[in-house]
Amino acid sequence: MSGDVEILRGDLGRILHERTRGEVDYRFGDRITRLDDDGRSVKVEFERAAAETYDFVVGADGLHSGVRALVFGDESRSLRHRGYRIASFGLPNLLDGRRGAASFCEPGRGVCLTATSPGEGRALLVSIGGPITEEDRDPGPQKRALAARFAGMGWRVPRVLECLKDAANLYVDAIATVHVDRYARGRVVLLGDAAYGGTLGGQGTSLAMVGAYVLANELSLASDPAAAFARYEARIRPYATRCQRGAARAGGFFAPRTRFGVALRDVMYGVLTSRALGGTFERMVRAAASDFALPRYGGAGA
Ligand SMILES: Cc1cc2nc3c(=O)[nH]c(=O)nc-3n(C[C@H](O)[C@H](O)[C@H](O)COP(=O)(O)OP(=O)(O)OC[C@H]3O[C@@H](n4cnc5c(N)ncnc54)[C@H](O)[C@@H]3O)c2cc1C
Repeated sequence: MSGDVEILRGDLGRILHERTRGEVDYRFGDRITRLDDDGRSVKVEFERAAAETYDFVVGADGLHSGVRALVFGDESRSLRHRGYRIASFGLPNLLDGRRGAASFCEPGRGVCLTATSPGEGRALLVSIGGPITEEDRDPGPQKRALAARFAGMGWRVPRVLECLKDAANLYVDAIATVHVDRYARGRVVLLGDAAYGGTLGGQGTSLAMVGAYVLANELSLASDPAAAFARYEARIRPYATRCQRGAARAGGFFAPRTRFGVALRDVMYGVLTSRALGGTFERMVRAAASDFALPRYGGAGA
């Protein structure tokens, strides 16, 4: 719609893994439990594997980053909740075999359906709600709570809730944005959602990829990690801050809180996507997505 390229997260992960597994030592099913930075290197302790020492550590472990928690403190310090919860899962294409997306909302709750192929799709359920607790992460109670929260809605929502019963890949979280004073502490640096994430609506994948490109190139050029981390942050922070504004507004876009808010959103969206304004909405989305001039580094990264 906005001229961007849409790649499902799982597909992107598979492509990146396939392209790099010859050179990168991947270890699945483990996690970092302790980091000791002595100023010259970082000793890393794992839950399963034996401890190892590295020149530096990049925490690219998402919105609820374990590395961030170890180095920057509990996530309550860095996660800013935006008053909404989301749930997402795969289901058959409920858009009558068409591609694209369609959504329906009532005050405080909204459902968006996207078609990922003629036969398959994804549902996104957005509703007013607070942070997710550990108990909320259990799929059985999650499904019951979602069914109750979205009960009584019209459109295709009853079919969505039918599909929810059998959903094997349900993702539930609160909409939040990440804010840290600095992306790095000593020899540990944060990347992607861990550093400047927003649950959705903030170009998070593009931002993570661009951040990785810049960080890798700055590390390859700098004489010490601190200099590379500083240049990486100087380049990325302004772009990341702009992207996070989209994430902060995402809940209110999918599920405005009041009838007036729903009506206003519909009018604005209708005007911005109207023929008369000739693709203004698409241009806005494209401008936000490409609002970063990728540095040219030369060599392999260029
Ligand atoms: C419903 C939904 C829709 C979205 N739609 C879009 C979109 O259309 N466009 C877009 O650009 N972005 C979108 N996003 C945002 C996007 O998914 C993220 O911004 C992006 O995945 C961030 O990449 P990342 O690598 O930083 O983190 P993640 O993709 O979250 O990857 C982090 C990885 O770290 C692993 N991990 C977590 N904790 C640990 C630990 N303690 N130890 C070891 N490993 C750990 C996780 O398993 C995961 O593999 C969407 C997000 C959601 C929730």
